[in-house]
Amino acid sequence: MRLITHNMLKCHVKNCTDPDKQFPLRFKDVQLEQIEADRNDEFLVRMLPRIDWAALLKTAKELNIELPDKVPESPADDGEFLSTLHTVILETHVKDGSMVCDGCGHEYKITNGIPNMLLAEHEI
Ligand SMILES: [Zn+2]
Repeated sequence: MRLITHNMLKCHVKNCTDPDKQFPLRFKDVQLEQIEADRNDEFLVRMLPRIDWAALLKTAKELNIELPDKVPESPADDGEFLSTLHTVILETHVKDGSMVCDGCGHEYKITNGIPNMLLAEHEI
């Protein structure tokens, strides 16, 4: 699972509705893997407005990944920034581990790069 996917996931357990806690999910015991991908600057620039930067920054810090605190004013002209962004959100994969919700404590397992977002019946 790529970090860009994680940036779009929030807890969806019933009654877990505090926006400050259900997102971003906190990684636990994760095994990371770098998988090379072709860089597409146009795509990166287009994705930027959809990325929650504060959440990405928080997650990157937890994983000891370097990321600038802020998105530069003209990201399209900043090759170094785009290169870092590409590496972090598209080439960094979580292979195994889990994601924990700070709101309700639900643990979403990740196995072979696939997050299990299914809930038990009482959580729906
Ligand atoms: Zn939750």
